[in-house]
Amino acid sequence: VRVIIAGGGTGGLATALALRQRGIEPLVLEQSETFAAIGAGLGLQPNAMKAITGVGGDALWRSCSARIDEERQHSLTTGELITRWEIGAFAERYGEHYYCGHRADLLASLLEPLPSECVRLSSRVVGFEEGRGEVAVELDSGEEVRGDVLIGADGLRSATRRHLFGGEEARFTGVVVWRGLMRSEDMPEEHRWLMLGWYGPHRHVLVYPLRHAEHPESLHMLTVFVPVDEVQRESWTVSGDLADLRASLSDACEAIQVLLDCMPSALITGIYFRDPLERWGSERVTLVGDAAHPVPPNAGQGAGMALEDALMLAAALDRHRDDVATGLAEYEGRRRRRAERVLESSRVNLLYRQLSDPDKVRARDGYFHGLHRLSPASPLRDWFLIHDSVAAANELGTAAAEARALSRPQAQRAFELWRGALTLEDRSNGWLGERAGYAALLKRETAPAAGAHTEDVELGGVKAIRVGVLDAGDSAPLVLHLHGGAYSMGSAATSVALAARLAAAAGGVAVVPEYRLAPEHPYPAALEDVAAVYAQLRADDPHRPLIVSGECAGGGLALSLLDVVRADGSRQPDAVYVVSPFCDLTVSEAGFDFEAATDPWFDRVFATQLAAAYVQSADTADPRLSPLLLDCTGFPPMLIHAAAEEAALPGAAALAANAQDAGVEVQFRAFADSVHSFVLFDFLPETDEALAEFAGLAAAARDRALATEA
Ligand SMILES: Cc1cc2nc3c(=O)[nH]c(=O)nc-3n(C[C@H](O)[C@H](O)[C@H](O)COP(=O)(O)OP(=O)(O)OC[C@H]3O[C@@H](n4cnc5c(N)ncnc54)[C@H](O)[C@@H]3O)c2cc1C
Repeated sequence: VRVIIAGGGTGGLATALALRQRGIEPLVLEQSETFAAIGAGLGLQPNAMKAITGVGGDALWRSCSARIDEERQHSLTTGELITRWEIGAFAERYGEHYYCGHRADLLASLLEPLPSECVRLSSRVVGFEEGRGEVAVELDSGEEVRGDVLIGADGLRSATRRHLFGGEEARFTGVVVWRGLMRSEDMPEEHRWLMLGWYGPHRHVLVYPLRHAEHPESLHMLTVFVPVDEVQRESWTVSGDLADLRASLSDACEAIQVLLDCMPSALITGIYFRDPLERWGSERVTLVGDAAHPVPPNAGQGAGMALEDALMLAAALDRHRDDVATGLAEYEGRRRRRAERVLESSRVNLLYRQLSDPDKVRARDGYFHGLHRLSPASPLRDWFLIHDSVAAANELGTAAAEARALSRPQAQRAFELWRGALTLEDRSNGWLGERAGYAALLKRETAPAAGAHTEDVELGGVKAIRVGVLDAGDSAPLVLHLHGGAYSMGSAATSVALAARLAAAAGGVAVVPEYRLAPEHPYPAALEDVAAVYAQLRADDPHRPLIVSGECAGGGLALSLLDVVRADGSRQPDAVYVVSPFCDLTVSEAGFDFEAATDPWFDRVFATQLAAAYVQSADTADPRLSPLLLDCTGFPPMLIHAAAEEAALPGAAALAANAQDAGVEVQFRAFADSVHSFVLFDFLPETDEALAEFAGLAAAARDRALATEA
């Protein structure tokens, strides 16, 4: 197979190495006249280190670059420490360390093992034509180079991509980055050999070493991300005016001012990305690295993804030498999902680090704090750091394993709704995007039955919606329904449909409180709101039978409420109904099983993210935060439902067991072939079954309450 590679950056050189390992001779066409030391620093996290080692291009890089064992994140204005992550301690888990270095050292390291005839400099690709079983690549000199395959490794502004799919503009984030180098010996001692971050309103700063201490030209890099209106010019080669940079950082803490004094010049470039492509190429042409999936640099995965692409592409082409179109399709199919997830992470990291609203900044810092407490191995990065691209490339397969499906068509429909609930755009917009996506799903897919009456009320100082027959008699049960959404999503309005059905099943009315959401309002805000509403309902109408219900976070809150009521010595509700309760806020094996589940909504990363937003600095051993730990003694009769396939099933089952051990009258049922919080979807037959069981619980509660009154 004759392979032509357009671009001799990370992706192009790594692909050339990976192909040569498999006995395929590539030709790299690079537009530059030399491999000059342009650019500044970048990082290879453990996954990227595995990949560069896999292509055999790591030797020089290892001999120059700096190993990072610890990351610290601070407030830019006060200098206060927000979080600290000892990544070095996880090297065994990830099979590698994390190294930062100069981009020029990385390119030199990839070039070193390549025979010089593999790379042609001053060779700018301007177009190509496919046909007659080959591809003819045109250079700006007018020369034509022919091959079986063309790989566009020509970066963010890829000519290959433009030729394939047209010239759509890259999306600009509105953020530009200053990158400046300084001699390590000029750096304050306490800042050396760490990855340091300072986050402030609308801007953030990162500082890290690019070469190790013994290197004759040991360097550090300072990067400053600022809004575009604060700089005068962009260039990879000419320094910006440092007076602009100083103005941007005028309110930064002393540590930053000291660092700025060490930096003689800095380059300015914009931060861009592109939306995922439907296809990465054609029958004989494909893309790697930034040409295929450029991302903001804020997950530190740009070079790593290019290196991983190289391994998979070489392996797929090797397996399909006689049918390169199949090889290219396999490569693309098996890299796409990972590339999209990295795009999401990079965008959300940039967004969170550039926040300016003080409430959002506080929420973000609390969320980061929660994340690091919940999972020292950092679940947000765990999935990309643990990836072994060498093993993945050698595995046979056509596309990334798709999530397993459910059996019944209705169940599969519900499965698809959860799977598609949040778009890449929603997730890239952080918790606000997720909240909007979740609201849109419920608005679209759930609607109250015609004639359901709703009324806005305020109870105990908390806004709520009252749903159902408003003139139901005094003995008609009241359902206090707590909506789901994993403590950070959902609202009273988007739960009216389910609340109306619960009210109808109980033959009464429902009240849905608008409790405060995380991460703006961490624990115990939501519980305080729910407790205030409960107390008011009891005070207003002491004789009315009262049932508390909730799905997902609402289920967890319902249980925590019982503990509050018990501690206050107040009257317990007459029954409790929970569905798919999010009751293990430590996201442990006691509450979740992500391996066995067929769950399109909760995976380990997402569940941990959501829990962290609510937990923040609270003590996870507090049973009101994590009601799986509650002693259920004295709790009212409970009905607990879950889906047999959902990730949160162990939590629901353990809760039922705890309640039973404490002598509570409890019914537990796991519905087979169903989804998380299935009662939200009225097209599922199991929703009717569940509501029928709930009606039985409510009737018994009403009888018991009336008997007590009598
Ligand atoms: C000059 C430069 C400096 C950079 N500095 C940094 C940095 O300091 N920190 C950081 O995180 N990232 C930096 N990057 C981006 C980073 O290298 C990539 O995000 C990452 O390594 C992925 O690599 P890639 O091979 O996909 O793209 P790139 O590394 O961008 O490589 C693309 C290569 O293709 C060549 N090329 C482009 N068009 C053509 C064409 N038509 N014909 C032939 N060759 C072509 C380019 O000259 C370049 O060598 C820089 C990129 C460039 C181009």
